[in-house]
Parts: sequence; structure tokens; C-alpha cells
Amino acid sequence: MKKHAWLLVGLAAMAAVPAMLLAQRPEYPIVLVAPGKGPYTFPEGYQTPWDRIEIMVTVKMSPNLFVLHGSEALDPAHPDGSGGRAMALFGPDGVLMVDTENRQVAEKTLTAIRSFTSAPIKVLVNTHIHPDHTGANAFFAKQGALIFSQEDLQSEMLRPPPRANGQPAPAPEPASVPVAIYRYNPAAPGQPAVTFNMNGETVDFIPMMPSHTAGDTIVRFRNADVIYIEDFYRNFGYPFADQANGGSVRGMLEAIDLIGKLAGSGTTLVPGHGTLVKKNDLLPYRAMLVDILGKVKAMRDQGKSLTDVLAAKLTAPYDKTTLGDTQQSKDRFITEVYDEVKDFPPIVDGKRTMPKHP
Ligand SMILES: [Zn+2]
Repeated sequence: MKKHAWLLVGLAAMAAVPAMLLAQRPEYPIVLVAPGKGPYTFPEGYQTPWDRIEIMVTVKMSPNLFVLHGSEALDPAHPDGSGGRAMALFGPDGVLMVDTENRQVAEKTLTAIRSFTSAPIKVLVNTHIHPDHTGANAFFAKQGALIFSQEDLQSEMLRPPPRANGQPAPAPEPASVPVAIYRYNPAAPGQPAVTFNMNGETVDFIPMMPSHTAGDTIVRFRNADVIYIEDFYRNFGYPFADQANGGSVRGMLEAIDLIGKLAGSGTTLVPGHGTLVKKNDLLPYRAMLVDILGKVKAMRDQGKSLTDVLAAKLTAPYDKTTLGDTQQSKDRFITEVYDEVKDFPPIVDGKRTMPKHP
């Protein structure tokens, strides 16, 4: 009888505890605004209406680690959510930002940050050079951010590859250039180059092998169990290795394999675009890269031209399950693989001199 009463008390206590924990500690991540799924179409000559794009807190990763992202259906570069995701870790030690969103929405990005913290902006790390991730660098440097990146990203920014039309790209605004730089060490993939202990979190800047670009960095938040994996993985549109900026499709495979080692099964992975994922979600993407690399290489070894390879519609088995599946997205992907499997130019100063296709 006595034992039975004890059991009842025990059960009552067990029932009470989870409810109390739930009230105090919600389950992270908390998704407030999910990215769009499309399909999206934009009329010829459409220009992004930056004045209509909002920058919102879209996900809470912990009580003081938030994700910022833009509106859907307005920006043809990223219709599922304008810009590349940015993150802000905040608290008494100041704000640490991962990427900045586009230059045109710099004020809105700061306003979104000011909606949850008045702490000074202290640190900014760039995951790669693209303007949806670094466009507001100068603006946030003027707010007080010290900008970190791989040295290759700094080189890409200081001496940009020529534009697609062959014209030289304009020089960057000096304040936008990262000043705290580090390098990828091929002998120790996954080793952090920089670690911050601030605001109760431990943050690692981990330089990556040439993958989406030559200057990629992923950012690990150890306590929140979150890794910002930027753009070598995407689930909206086909893979993009920016080879002119040193990217590599084969490097994207290595990057995925490294995430397999760094992440636990429950680690939340934050791509720059598309939906949040776990490491097992990267496997079908990896298999697609391997399949397309093999098929394109076989065709190129048989002397097929790029036109022949594009006409073979090698992405067809994946089109139904790839959101943001546009002709431009799949042709860009196949062209990248075609250029990579033979005579792939080396990286010099963070860049490759890619062949021109008519
Ligand atoms: Zn991006």
C-alpha cells in the first residue's frame, strides 16, 4: 500500500515536470515564417521592388539566436525568401552577425535586429561573397562590426572576376571588405579558424574547402546545436558552384561529407536559402551530385558538346522533387558540371578563369 502511494506521487511529479519545462523552455527551433514553395513567375524586365521587401525574424534557434530572412515572391534571385538568411546572436556581449542580407535592405535588416536587442553590433562573419550575404557589409561595418572571412573571400572582393559580359566588375566600397581573415587548412578540414565565447554561446567559424565559392565559411553554434551551412547545399533550385569565384561541384560533395562528420543527427542545419534541414536530408542531394557528375563526365569523355549534354535533360529524374526547378537553374548546374569534369581551371587569388560558352 505504501509502495503504491509512492508510485502515484511519482507519476504525478513526472506528469507535472514536462508541462513546466514546456512553459519555460519552448522547443527550438521555432519557425515563425517558413520560406515559400512556389512556383513563381516574373514578367520579362521585372525589377525587384526593394521598397516592398521586408526583413523579418523567421526562426528562433535559442532565446538569443535568431534568423533573419526576406519576403517571398518579390525577388526573382530568391523568390522563396528574398536575400540569403542572416543570423544574429545577441546579449550583453554585443551582437554577432552571420551575413548581412542585400545592400538595398540594410536599414530594414538593422531595424529587424533592433526589434529584439539594443546591444552594439560587434562581429560579422561572411559565409561567402554573394551580395545577398555581404551586400550590407559596409553599412554594418559603420555600425561597429569587425568583419571576418576567409582570405579567398577578401581576394574575390578586392579583385573581382570580370562580369558575365566581359566588363570589369566595379571595385568594392572599402568598408565592405573583411579585415579579420583566416585560411582553409586542407590538412585539418572542420577545424575552427576562430572561436567566440559570448552571450552564453560558443561560436566557431569553420573555413570550408572550395565548394560554393573558394572563400566559404560555415558557422557552428555549439550550445544551440545549429550550423549555418550557407549555399553549397540548397533545396530550392539546382546546385550552384560559383566557379568564377573558385567554387567546385566536387568540393560541394566534400563539404557535405564534412557536415556528416561535424553535425549530430539532431543538429539543425541552416542553408542560405530553402528550408532548414538535418544532416540526413543532405544525402539525396549528394547522390544527385554524384549521379550527374558521372553522367556528364561519360558524355564529355565521348566528345559530346555542352549543347548535346544540355539536350540530354540529365536532371529530368529530379525535376519533380526539386522546388524552384527552372530551366535557368538546371542549365547552370549542368554547365558547371560540364566545365568541371575536364580541364577545370585552377584557383588563383580565390578565382578561376572559366571558359566562355556562347
Ligand atoms: Zn545565398
